Amino acid sequence: MKSESSQTPPAACSQRKNKVKSKGDKVKTNDAESKKIQKTSGKSAESPKQPEEDHLGSGTRDRDITPLSLDHTEEVQTVEASPYLSEDGAKESSVEVQPKNKSLEDFKFLKVLGRGAYGKVVLAELRGTDKVCAVKMLKKDEIQKYRDVRQTLMERRALVLASEHPYLTQVCCCFQTNDRLYFAMEYMKGRDLEYHIARSFRFTKSRSRFYAAEIASALMFLHRNGIIHRDLKPSNILLDADGHCKIADFGLCKGGILDGNTTKTFCGTPLYIAPEILLECNYGASVDWWSLGVIMYEMMVGFPPFVATDKARLYRSILRKSPCYPFWLSRETKRILKAFLVKCPETRLGCVVSQGREEAIKIHPFFKDIDWELLEQRKITPPFKPKITTKKNTNNFKTRFIRKKLMLTPTDDSKILLCYERFFDDFYYCNPNIDCQA
Ligand code: ADP
Ligand code: MG
Repeated sequence: MKSESSQTPPAACSQRKNKVKSKGDKVKTNDAESKKIQKTSGKSAESPKQPEEDHLGSGTRDRDITPLSLDHTEEVQTVEASPYLSEDGAKESSVEVQPKNKSLEDFKFLKVLGRGAYGKVVLAELRGTDKVCAVKMLKKDEIQKYRDVRQTLMERRALVLASEHPYLTQVCCCFQTNDRLYFAMEYMKGRDLEYHIARSFRFTKSRSRFYAAEIASALMFLHRNGIIHRDLKPSNILLDADGHCKIADFGLCKGGILDGNTTKTFCGTPLYIAPEILLECNYGASVDWWSLGVIMYEMMVGFPPFVATDKARLYRSILRKSPCYPFWLSRETKRILKAFLVKCPETRLGCVVSQGREEAIKIHPFFKDIDWELLEQRKITPPFKPKITTKKNTNNFKTRFIRKKLMLTPTDDSKILLCYERFFDDFYYCNPNIDCQA
């Protein structure tokens, strides 16, 4: 399905090409990473329909696995610190007030909705009410072992900011116990795009355009606030009961990417990872536009543009090959896919300075029927409405997860390094604008 590309990788990066394989191998062979791959490959096997990328696991992601150290700072190439995104989170959100902290006792867990690389997400009822939410839980000892504490606090900050945009998953509250951190989020009843693509095989152009526009609007908002998502993929795009989509999973977000600041961490999910990350270049928001291009291709063609039998081949394909564009795709569709899947980030749609960067996306012929103002006000009727029968309906979720007994395995307290505890002091959060859904 693929042909050799005439595109060249970013010039500044080409001398680093040889490093890709060794870096990929290093990530793969690391103990911590293999643990995550094991977990996520289990998750992939759950999918209703798995195309050939199963073993690469669209749920498999290479995270920054730098061991935690107190003075570790991720390599943001700082030009000027953004006041909004200062690393200490001083000015996090103007709406952040804390009316009343919730605790574990306030929730009754009902069903497992999904599992990710670091923990599970369960449907929970707010005790004494008929309100429900999706609670994502992370074990503190695993955060300390496999994930940066800073990265978890970044996830919280992105979730807090998300309440200001209609196409980002909202958080109701954040709380903690001795051994776990919890994010109680609005429950997205319609499941994720990975499930819906597998069910429908592919979407119509207008349905794909609608999702792409909502995702693009959310990405532009994140980028305006100096946050890049870095793990955009169909399983992280959820549908609400009306059929609007929302970006979820801010676990790999990076803040402070504003005014020319860049970062360099090798992370993401193999099928959706941008060439500049593979080439270990400094990168910014361009990586999210690449991933959106991959998702749009997948929505309209039925499978991702770059597939291979192993990671090394996949990465080579991402770096060197051009996807095959089936004949049934319209001219504007091919144009926008090709524009997002440009290997060089400087000339990728959404990143070209002379075209007004992200403004160029809005005026692209593919989006000519989208009224962006109406879209941002959530006034465009979704082309597809998920089947929801009751509020606690989990018809759209994987049956094995639903049947699985809900148990919180106790964590050995001694594993929790007390010296890191203080980093979670400010973890509590209560969204004054939304409680759990009625
Ligand atoms: P991870 O960081 O481990 O990948 P995610 O936040 O992506 O975790 O959640 C894992 C899965 O849980 C998602 O793919 C989705 O199926 C489900 N999920 C996550 N958040 C919600 C939500 N708010 N409502 C419903 N399901 C959710
Ligand atoms: Mg996820």
